Amino acid sequence: MASERTFLAIKPDGVQRGLVGEILSRFEKKGFKLVALKQLTPTKALAEQHYGVHKDRPFFSGLVDFITSGPVVAMVWEGDGVIASARKVIGATKPLEADPGTIRGDLAVNIGRNVIHGSDSQETAHFEIGLWFQPSEINEWSPSDQNWRVEM
Ligand code: UDP
Ligand code: MG
Repeated sequence: MASERTFLAIKPDGVQRGLVGEILSRFEKKGFKLVALKQLTPTKALAEQHYGVHKDRPFFSGLVDFITSGPVVAMVWEGDGVIASARKVIGATKPLEADPGTIRGDLAVNIGRNVIHGSDSQETAHFEIGLWFQPSEINEWSPSDQNWRVEM
């Protein structure tokens, strides 16, 4: 499995509920590498581009209002298979269908307040990383314990 990058964002409900540390720690403990992190309240333009694929869905305007309503913690994480793996750590879109042990399964109830976003493919990861971050905001580094996570 090749090393890849994904875009994750803790939504305003996750930040307001004080879940940032809890959520970060799940990806850190899994063994993925954080390479970019910032907090911002997204503009409407950013939110509409990010969720552009859903622009014709009935929930779109409410979703954009919600995502722009407060702070979002935007991140890029790196690691072997991180795109699909992070989606598993996050759990199903509907929190009531998300397995216990997943972020949404453990920390959320409502589909419109499901705490976190994660890219769903290599294409969307590439698009979303470029949408939310400048290249200079992504920091290349080597964890000192890397040999203990992957076979070298
Ligand atoms: N969403 C919603 N109502 C719906 C479907 C989706 O509010 O009926 C929101 C929800 O916050 C979800 C986001 O729109 O996380 C994007 O939907 P998608 O199907 O891409 O789910 P995800 O990729 O976040 O699991
Ligand atoms: Mg999605």
